[in-house]
Amino acid sequence: MRVILIGPPGAGKGTQASRLSAKYGVPSISTGDLFRARTKDPNDPLGAEINRIMKEGKLVPNEITVKMIAERLDQPDCKNGFILDGFPRSVEQAESLDKMLKEKGIRLDGVVQIGVDDEKLVERISGRFACGKCGEGYHDKFHQPKDPHKCDKCGATEDPANPETTLWKRRPDDNATTVRARLETYHSQTAPILPFYDAKGVLKVVDGMASMDDVTRQIEAALDPKEGVKKPAPPKKYG
Ligand code: ADP
Ligand code: ADP
Ligand code: ZN
Repeated sequence: MRVILIGPPGAGKGTQASRLSAKYGVPSISTGDLFRARTKDPNDPLGAEINRIMKEGKLVPNEITVKMIAERLDQPDCKNGFILDGFPRSVEQAESLDKMLKEKGIRLDGVVQIGVDDEKLVERISGRFACGKCGEGYHDKFHQPKDPHKCDKCGATEDPANPETTLWKRRPDDNATTVRARLETYHSQTAPILPFYDAKGVLKVVDGMASMDDVTRQIEAALDPKEGVKKPAPPKKYG
């Protein structure tokens, strides 16, 4: 299964990518996660540059992004497919990916747009947190862990002997100012890739305002080859 998830920050791409990855047995690849991993080393100048750009809510330059994704897609675990979360994010990136896939003789099974209204995204993002060990995503209101001191997915627990290291992580770019900049970037640079994929006949639109389980069902139905003959619902008012 080879799928691209497109949506504004907080739409639910990471949440759904993790579920699809488990269902189809293919890796979910998030350029945001790859960049965050790169910013960990304080002595790495490229990491520092990426960190600065992410804090501003802008796009990391294509030369860096495309090279990184090309290396990732060459890894053996992508042989049977992948779920791309957050790439491509501009028409130029979509064109680069197209070229890469053509060279490998690979076809996409679907490009899924997760539509969510802007007002809802701020609420989604301000309540977002994740497990520091496995990255599983949670929300203060919409998706709390069963035990507030333990990750549902990997079982990691808070270490009472070491209260400095908290189990849960919040992203530094999930603040009101950066979110506005990221939304602006989405509308000006990412949304224009939707007509690119619609013209290829692979774009499916799902209503990301629905519950997480309902969004999963919509995506699975959209990716079902039996449903392929149906024209997807036109985008609502999102983006
Ligand atoms: P979200 O899940 O909220 O959409 P991501 O984790 O996907 O956020 O991305 C965080 C930041 O990483 C973006 O605001 C941007 O600065 C950078 N980034 C992620 N993916 C890309 C990409 N494909 N091209 C350029 N920059 C990217
Ligand atoms: P993205 O990767 O698109 O930025 P996430 O998957 O990280 O988005 O979701 C953003 C936040 O909203 C997370 O805290 C997640 O738990 C929550 N969330 C995701 N999908 C839904 C949904 N359908 N309804 C309510 N909350 C959701
Ligand atoms: Zn975990």
